[in-house]
Amino acid sequence: MKMLTRLTKAVVICTPCAGLAVLLAYGISYILGAPITGAGLISSALVPIVIGMPVIFFIEGQAIKLKKAVITLDLMREEAEERAKRDSMTGLYNHQHFMEQIHQNGRRDDGSLIILDIDHFKHINDSYGHQRGDEALIHVVKAVRKAVRAGDVVGRIGGEEFAVFLLDASKEEAKKVASRIRKTVEKIEFIPEDGVKAPLTVSVGVAMKDEVDNVVGAMKLADMRMYKAKETGRNRVVDSGHEAEVVDMLKGA
Ligand code: GH3
Ligand code: MG
Ligand code: MG
Repeated sequence: MKMLTRLTKAVVICTPCAGLAVLLAYGISYILGAPITGAGLISSALVPIVIGMPVIFFIEGQAIKLKKAVITLDLMREEAEERAKRDSMTGLYNHQHFMEQIHQNGRRDDGSLIILDIDHFKHINDSYGHQRGDEALIHVVKAVRKAVRAGDVVGRIGGEEFAVFLLDASKEEAKKVASRIRKTVEKIEFIPEDGVKAPLTVSVGVAMKDEVDNVVGAMKLADMRMYKAKETGRNRVVDSGHEAEVVDMLKGA
């Protein structure tokens, strides 16, 4: 099909050129008083066809190749840009892109931030090895993704530390999402070795943007509350009331 298009183009361009060449040959012969022969006119028509058609055919082929290369390069650039925004291990936004996202979306009055950190993660690495640690991390990321709402922005802001930016969430909603994250992580069945079930939990801090008036401040506040959750026992959510959610693990709350 492409060959046919290239051939058609070559014919469309060369045919008028052949006509023009015949007219020129005729005109020049007439002005110079030279004899006008059929062979002379046919040769004039053949020159643009014999030389022009293959040249145009070739140039068209190169133009098609160039177009394809430009499209491939555009796709590669888009893929590279997308990859640069994400953490390669988890596929979540990296710290830098997460901050860009919250600055873009954080101009509005609403919005809340959740920061969570895996509890005693070093112990998992030390006990079962770094590879099992990586697997645990991926389990936690899946749980976080399951617990957040569509449209919430999730980022990996540190080794085993994550942040969620919730647009349009009331204080109650933000707390609900944070609790859902905590509970979903707690339910993960992580078996690093045959017959060994290792607990996975997270400590979570929540802050509303309107508590401090800017997203960076909300991020700091959520971080402080996450540390408060660590200090007060881990596997809990601390929000604006600075009240630690008491976890009754035996009841599976
Ligand atoms: P805490 O409950 O106080 O947060 O204790 P923790 O052990 O989780 O915290 P600490 O900061 O002492 O250790 C975090 C560990 O997380 C240390 C680091 O090696 C590990 N870590 C960070 N990123 C990765 C990763 O991508 N893969 C693995 N396997 N480990 C990681
Ligand atoms: Mg930790
Ligand atoms: Mg940490």
